[in-house]
Amino acid sequence: MAAAFVFRMHDKGPGLVREVLLERGWEEYDGGKREEEDWNLYWRGSPFHSSEYQNLLPWQRLNHHPKTVGITRKDCLARHLRRMRATFGSALYDFSPAAFILPNDYTRFLAEYNKRRPSRRCSIYWICKPVDLSRGKGIFIFQDVKDLVYDCSVIVQKYISSPLLISGYKFDLRIYVCVKSFNPLTVYIHQEGLVRFATEKYSLSSLRNLYAHLTNTSINKFGPFYRTEKGSVGQGCKWTMSKFRRFIHSLDINELLLWQRISSIVTLTLLTIASSVPSCPNCVELFGFDILIDNTFKPWLLEVNYSPALTLDCQADISVKKGLIGDLIDLMNYTSTDRLRDRAYRKQRYKQPHFSANHSSRFSSSVLSKLKLHNFQRMRRSSRSSQNQTLPLPEKQNQRQTRQRVFRPDYQRQLPPIRATGTIFKTNANKSCTGPTLNRTLDPRPRTKASVMKGQTCPAFASCQMESSPRMSEVTNRDTETEAEVDLSGETDASSLTPDTQQRGQRFRRFAESWRLPNIYSGSQRPAGNGQHIPPVRVGNFIRTFPFNAATLEASQHKLDVRVITQELQKLTGLLASGRSDETEWRRDEGRRKVTDGDTCFDSLLWGPTDPPLLSQCFKPTLVDLRDHSFARKSHDITQ
Ligand code: ADP
Repeated sequence: MAAAFVFRMHDKGPGLVREVLLERGWEEYDGGKREEEDWNLYWRGSPFHSSEYQNLLPWQRLNHHPKTVGITRKDCLARHLRRMRATFGSALYDFSPAAFILPNDYTRFLAEYNKRRPSRRCSIYWICKPVDLSRGKGIFIFQDVKDLVYDCSVIVQKYISSPLLISGYKFDLRIYVCVKSFNPLTVYIHQEGLVRFATEKYSLSSLRNLYAHLTNTSINKFGPFYRTEKGSVGQGCKWTMSKFRRFIHSLDINELLLWQRISSIVTLTLLTIASSVPSCPNCVELFGFDILIDNTFKPWLLEVNYSPALTLDCQADISVKKGLIGDLIDLMNYTSTDRLRDRAYRKQRYKQPHFSANHSSRFSSSVLSKLKLHNFQRMRRSSRSSQNQTLPLPEKQNQRQTRQRVFRPDYQRQLPPIRATGTIFKTNANKSCTGPTLNRTLDPRPRTKASVMKGQTCPAFASCQMESSPRMSEVTNRDTETEAEVDLSGETDASSLTPDTQQRGQRFRRFAESWRLPNIYSGSQRPAGNGQHIPPVRVGNFIRTFPFNAATLEASQHKLDVRVITQELQKLTGLLASGRSDETEWRRDEGRRKVTDGDTCFDSLLWGPTDPPLLSQCFKPTLVDLRDHSFARKSHDITQ
């Protein structure tokens, strides 16, 4: 019987993740019974320490990329967006409300405040938010600077005072974004998400009423009207994205443009940090993007959440979050090769059946290390041999091979394809690899000795330029609610590593250097003519939103070319805004590229609508042609 995958949770971890993994037949890591390295997925709500990235083994994955604080803390995000605005123009980076980080930016804020000083003609409102708190804590809205009182680092942001309302209630969207890789940037957005409502009617005459102005569930579930029927909002304070989609569909607006604008916000935000995140192929990250739509249907980015809440408060949570986690696990793309961990253990258990659990833990680690080293040495030898040809073995070696045949097929499967004169050879193992999820191929990216030397194909963590993990207070917007995941130092597990374990890990890693995980991009991907690889267009309800065409694929492969990417995004959004039908620039450009680059042309799905269409099919004459990319509907309040 195939061995189970093993997950490890920091502290109690999110109950939902545990539930989904157990349902899928995974086993939970038990430190008393298992080796330190005997797990496939480590999940935690707080950041991992840098040593945890450095010590990752090929079969192990983490649920955070390093150094994503740049977008998940309010002040860092504001700073990054300001920098991008200065470089690429405020027209492109116009999706986040003007923000000032106080106390540092106080003078600049005052200048802006005075410029826009409340007049009878138009009132300006501001929102003040502590930079490192979440769930609406410490937030207040003000109009007069006299009311701005703070005793910690805060950001003061222009308050979007004319939000789109449903039955008079304010709402925002929680969009779930999975970054498979920052290098090359590979982004998926989940089709499901949540719409979070305020529970009292929106009114600017009561700025202190948080139940009317904030959409955080953590606040509204304690509101007096939480259980009351609230017009078309209904009871509670959440809708699923599917319900919102039906609502949007019923309106006379350019729906595709709205979805594309949200998707662009996600990409443009990730671009602010993409080149500074160290490459870590074994990590994925689930972000929660909070988007507010105003009454002209313009989407605004409010913040990006690290470890978005996975608690189940209501039916909407249950229908969205369970599927989300299942799809996330599929996106991690575990294959049978990841079970090798278990093979090694089973073998050594068979050899040493008489050792008690307490004893065997220490003994087995050395046996395991030898076993691993041996197999890696063999694996390396075999990878050096003439590109997967089977050579006749001397008698002695043959005997050994028979004894160890239980390992060979799996290790062979791990051998990456080797590139020779620009061609990618598939290994035999490639064919026989039968993963439980949708990845059925090995790392299809070409590997050269040079790339290994440059550290690009290091098994788990390719950059050596990591600083220590930031402290919790320096970290994030985490909206996790009841899970006891907070680790203030972020160093718990690293410090618990014994020197012996660390040494073993280092030794092992040296041998693992020429070896890497089956590529997370595989599945339905296909290699393009110039050796680039196209990640699957869809995994469950996760839709690939980046790269979305040949130009963005190319611009993200080696050195991230942000300018090209932003141009492509603008082009796509512009086309959707104008609803161009025949012979679009898009098709012409893609066609041209196909001719010049070989078969690098590929299509993508447009995230958002029901049955997401291919981008190439989006430009239909039926779209409403809207002047200046704005939406036709002017109504301030939509009542269904
Ligand atoms: P937190 O991390 O505490 O949840 P957010 O930035 O998400 O902080 O803000 C909490 C809520 O406040 C949002 O869900 C939204 O309803 C409201 N909000 C935040 N910023 C703005 C803004 N600039 N304009 C209008 N509403 C805002």
